[in-house]
Amino acid sequence: MLDTDVIIIGCGIAGATTALKLAQNPKRHITVITGESDPSESNTRYAQGGIVSRGLDDSPELLARDILEAGAGASNPEAVELLAREGAAAVQEILVEMAGVQFDTTSTGEYEYGKEGAHSRRRILHVGDGTGLSIITGLVAAIKQYPNINILTNTTAVDLITFPHHSRNPLETYQPVESHGAYAFASKEKTIHRYMSAATVLATGGLGRIYRNTTNPPGARGDGLAMAHRAGARIVNAEYIQFHPTSLALPGVEGFLISEAVRGEGAVLLTPDGKPFMEAYSPRWKDLAPRDIVSRAIHHQMETNGYSYVLLDIATHLPAKTIVDRFPNIYQKCLSLGIDITRDPIPVVPAAHYFCGGVLVDEWGRTNIQNLYAVGEISCTGVHGANRLASTSLLEGLVWGNRAAKHIESVLQQMTTLDLPGFKEVPQWDETGLVAEADAALIQGDMQTIQNIMWHYVGIERNSERLSRAIRELRHLWNEIETFYRTTRLSDGLIGLRNAVEVALIIAQAALHNRQSRGCHYRVDSEVADGDRLI
Ligand SMILES: Cc1cc2nc3c(=O)[nH]c(=O)nc-3n(C[C@H](O)[C@H](O)[C@H](O)COP(=O)(O)OP(=O)(O)OC[C@H]3O[C@@H](n4cnc5c(N)ncnc54)[C@H](O)[C@@H]3O)c2cc1C
Repeated sequence: MLDTDVIIIGCGIAGATTALKLAQNPKRHITVITGESDPSESNTRYAQGGIVSRGLDDSPELLARDILEAGAGASNPEAVELLAREGAAAVQEILVEMAGVQFDTTSTGEYEYGKEGAHSRRRILHVGDGTGLSIITGLVAAIKQYPNINILTNTTAVDLITFPHHSRNPLETYQPVESHGAYAFASKEKTIHRYMSAATVLATGGLGRIYRNTTNPPGARGDGLAMAHRAGARIVNAEYIQFHPTSLALPGVEGFLISEAVRGEGAVLLTPDGKPFMEAYSPRWKDLAPRDIVSRAIHHQMETNGYSYVLLDIATHLPAKTIVDRFPNIYQKCLSLGIDITRDPIPVVPAAHYFCGGVLVDEWGRTNIQNLYAVGEISCTGVHGANRLASTSLLEGLVWGNRAAKHIESVLQQMTTLDLPGFKEVPQWDETGLVAEADAALIQGDMQTIQNIMWHYVGIERNSERLSRAIRELRHLWNEIETFYRTTRLSDGLIGLRNAVEVALIIAQAALHNRQSRGCHYRVDSEVADGDRLI
């Protein structure tokens, strides 16, 4: 059993920021765990477009207005206002000064602000089209400097330790639910440990991998959301899954994102025979409409005309050198697959990209469970409402990571001693009698079934029949997987499968329950919340 002041589960922008800020007090002992072998592997690493800051002719009010408009009436105005007010200063203090991130500048040394869909101003800081990699590399290097931060890789959290659930004392039943840390699986040693902590921070990111087509890396399977759900945390807005309109559509390529910044810099969507179509769906924004509108427009074009992709043309709209300078990674990736984007249009399809819902938190990242915080994509602060505005999620992870650290520090300062539950009070993980090793074929097969169900029945266009069918099939799978889990020795894949089916059910049920189309939740069979946004 390992004791720590704070355990942070996840090392993307949100978890790393929380750790970095907490470590400023040398008395704090912080443990950061990640299931990956490389601490920088996360959704953060793959962010291309950039992070919102404050442009030259910009203001917090203008940013707040854009976020609220994209959020389709479901964003929490207080959370939006907080992000718009604190964001730019947090970028400067934490990313530029503490993590040493060097955002792109103009020839005169000013920041070069980019533009993306539904932003009324140029305000996005970027490092070419590899912004996330630069951010996470800087943050991980920064936290490694602190002796009071212990980073544990290959360590997958299995479940939160909560009282009364994991307490041996029956009288805990009458107390409010409290978090005291987590059980985690060391995947190299294949052992399970108890990590006891005064505060626990969930920073496990998103869940795109439960869909067949996604831009997310393999670790994004909703682990934190499932753990929080089992512990009794309040989960909201789970029906709002954002589909990115443009992921690369080539055989054998897994969900490579073509950043929204490409449309921001002038690229236009075309049918495979070369006709622009976005004006018909959004006369005001055209190709720079919010993501939900563009994704549905592409989906609609593909479904009604039988296309297997549409095209994105940047070559006609920017000089070749600018394309290569601004989008070096996209250029290289496409070139390696035989497409020269300075000359040819890019074949694209929509893909599951971002989870707008999550564990409900307040302005300090607090959940409804005592001592349990959630930050970043796993949380729902209310900023994104029914649809996230481009490049705001990195900023949300940064701002709420910073705020959660401040709150935890203030709570810990009020404690004279760290009064953690001891060995006797929390049972060890018990695998006695379990000999069967997890069968990789079963894990892969079940995961693919979940991904197909989610893509076809809980995807871009939903209706009651599809959603009910998804729920019936997912319930059956849930039972099978739970039995598999209870009778088999743990593995990282099994932990992920159990969580994937749990979060798939949460999403399908929320989508069935909400009969109103709004933002990225689109019900073809239902009443319209915001008619002018629908196609
Ligand atoms: C291709 C792509 C491009 C994007 N582009 C942008 C962009 O330009 N701008 C923008 O603002 N946003 C962008 N986003 C979204 C943004 O990257 C994410 O929302 C954000 O990085 C999430 O940060 P996070 O810290 O919450 O989670 P992540 O960065 O995903 O980190 C999650 C961490 O949790 C760990 N973890 C998960 N489960 C467990 C477990 N059971 N036990 C232990 N550790 C666990 C992971 O290993 C990882 O360390 C993009 C996303 C993708 C996929």
